Amino acid sequence: MQGVGFRPFVYGLATELALTGWVRNDGDGVYVEVEGPKRHLSSFAERVVRDAPTRARIQHSSLTWSEAEGFETFEIRHSDGHAPPTVVVLADGATCDACMAEVRDPNDRRYRYPFTNCTDCGPRFTIVKGLPYDRPLTTMAGFAFCDDCRREYEDPLDRRFHAQPNACPVCGPHVELWDAEGNAVAKRNEAIHQAGQALREGKILAAKGIGGFHLMVDAANESAVARLRRRKLREEKPLAIMAGDLDQARAICTVSDDAAALLASPESPIALMRRRDDADVAPSVAPGNPRLGVMLPSSAFHHLLLEAAGRPLVATSGNRSDEPICTSNEQALADLADIADVFLVHDRPIARHVDDSVVLVDDSETRPVRRARGYAPLPVNLGRELPTILAVGGHLKNTIALAVGSNVFLSQHIGDLDTPRARDAFENVIRDFLDMYEVTPELLVHDLHPDYASTAWVERLSRADERPTWAEALADIPRLAVQHHHAHLAACLAEHGVDGPALGVSWDGTGYGDDGTIWGGEFLLGVASGYARVASLRPFRLPGGEAAVKEPRRTALALALDAIGERAFDTAAGTTFNASERTLIASMLAKGVNAPVTTSAGRLFDGVAALLDIRQTVSFEGQAPMELEAVADPEERGTYPFPLVTDEGERPVLDWRPLVEALLEDRTGGTSIAVVSARFHESLAEGIARVVDQVEAETVALSGGCFLNARLLRRTRERLEAAGRRVLVHREVPPGDGGISLGQVAVAAAHLASREER
Ligand code: ZN
Ligand code: ZN
Ligand code: FE
Repeated sequence: MQGVGFRPFVYGLATELALTGWVRNDGDGVYVEVEGPKRHLSSFAERVVRDAPTRARIQHSSLTWSEAEGFETFEIRHSDGHAPPTVVVLADGATCDACMAEVRDPNDRRYRYPFTNCTDCGPRFTIVKGLPYDRPLTTMAGFAFCDDCRREYEDPLDRRFHAQPNACPVCGPHVELWDAEGNAVAKRNEAIHQAGQALREGKILAAKGIGGFHLMVDAANESAVARLRRRKLREEKPLAIMAGDLDQARAICTVSDDAAALLASPESPIALMRRRDDADVAPSVAPGNPRLGVMLPSSAFHHLLLEAAGRPLVATSGNRSDEPICTSNEQALADLADIADVFLVHDRPIARHVDDSVVLVDDSETRPVRRARGYAPLPVNLGRELPTILAVGGHLKNTIALAVGSNVFLSQHIGDLDTPRARDAFENVIRDFLDMYEVTPELLVHDLHPDYASTAWVERLSRADERPTWAEALADIPRLAVQHHHAHLAACLAEHGVDGPALGVSWDGTGYGDDGTIWGGEFLLGVASGYARVASLRPFRLPGGEAAVKEPRRTALALALDAIGERAFDTAAGTTFNASERTLIASMLAKGVNAPVTTSAGRLFDGVAALLDIRQTVSFEGQAPMELEAVADPEERGTYPFPLVTDEGERPVLDWRPLVEALLEDRTGGTSIAVVSARFHESLAEGIARVVDQVEAETVALSGGCFLNARLLRRTRERLEAAGRRVLVHREVPPGDGGISLGQVAVAAAHLASREER
């Protein structure tokens, strides 16, 4: 990897052990030749791996002995020529403690300097414009070193040796505070001071961060937060919080040791943690949500801003509703002028948008929800050579992936591809990745769904008048469509380096099935090269199709009509419809008009949430299941009947009808929603275990967005492990659709390999 300080580390270690020789970055890795007394060499060999810099990841190392050449000194040799495409671009890292100590030291030349960084920390991916990773090819190119910074940069024993973004108040970028018209009202420290004051007064601040703008507001000020929601047209989706330090985080959430370590890590993600009952956080920050997403400052800039504000701040992406995050001052001013009262900007350009990452922390484990700043574009290494493959991912929570060598480079979170701007961002990321690694793929992989914007983009490559000119070279490259839930299974296997066969429990909201229906509650037995659909949820219809996603009550009525007949109209969901709506929905379902068939587990969660009157309509996907999970009694272990049934000639299906009937009876009998919800979760875990019991597979992979549900994941895993199965869950990529692109690569690589064998 470049930019982790490996060469200076080797230099320091060799010097300390009085060894001579050289170190060189040579494209596919670091080469070191050292000579000296044998016991020093052994100690070197051990420590070079054990004490490697924080941000280095050693994928492989090997050692050979040779005759001494009689080196007089130890030197850092410069790699000649061009960085080969296998070089790993580092992710952005939060400002380290050593740098922050300087920022807080009134006698230091970097006192209160927002852009302080070193070889161990600071921006990387968001400043890289091309490879090799060298200052002229970063967005720091326009800032010429002062003498002091140059000296640090050139001294192998300095902790800023070859720190490409090295800067100081004399030579580096600076901040300014702008009003909504773009007039500078304050500069440097005064700008940060006034920004803090504006936040304390309840104003909305647009602040240029590492990978884009944040919109910030006092997290305890309800009217200010509500105003931000109104202006941003964001109804109920939770907003993230930036706390000034761990103490502030602990005042609003239960922070486990794991969570504390994660918050303070170089990746510095948003951690989703249980909110405290006494948290001084405005209700509008995360309505109906028992968790809060909290991060700590990820740069000196943010530390200073949080200190100036003196309180936790809402810090949400600086964009309009679901558009990509703004990265330039001009764009932010144009897009956010109606939202923000003041703008805290600076003159270091952002090379590409990178959102904050999100990690779910659940007691003893963490799961990636959104992989962006701090993680992207670090690869998942599959441990074997792969053909060059470009995978364009799904449609929602999109990421793309590029396989080069043995690495699968995963893009930052791009988001839902519903708007033209989002689709532009998607195209730019593809171009960016192909440029950066200078490769032309052998194969293009996309989802089986013909209507996904990502699929459509690949389709358009064939049409000269519709494809971007830069993409001409992609026009004739072979393509492969991969089934969505197979990609989920393959992603989970790939990140664990497991070939399978395994039983993939792929549970999510939606994915196009190979029979043309909407899948989402699947049991797929297979490997990367293929699968058999061995079971699923019992299919049901979604009255109104997409409308049912926004209105769980529609799904609820469909489920209940199937489970208990006409009595469905008397349920909490049924009574929300008037007589003519009921007739219409019943007829849609009976005739199968505008009521597509699905096996979606996500929709089953939706429907049950509506039957329990937790939520009849939603403003974002996953809202109803999240609230259903939130109310579940943690102790309750009861279950409802959820049999695995096989009709003639059909695959076995988990029949939810007895489950729905029993939970409605429970409710009518006065059982609390908390207990009913818990029993529903327990039943699903039991149902999954029932299917697994019928299948000859030692390994079970739990993938798909439903496994962000901590209760479902934990209880399913416990049951399966008790039954002696090996259970794989996601650690590197999100279980949701952010992980699809990795699975697509794995499927495609297996496809190419099996074709070669034939
Ligand atoms: Zn540092
Ligand atoms: Zn300087
Ligand atoms: Fe999915």
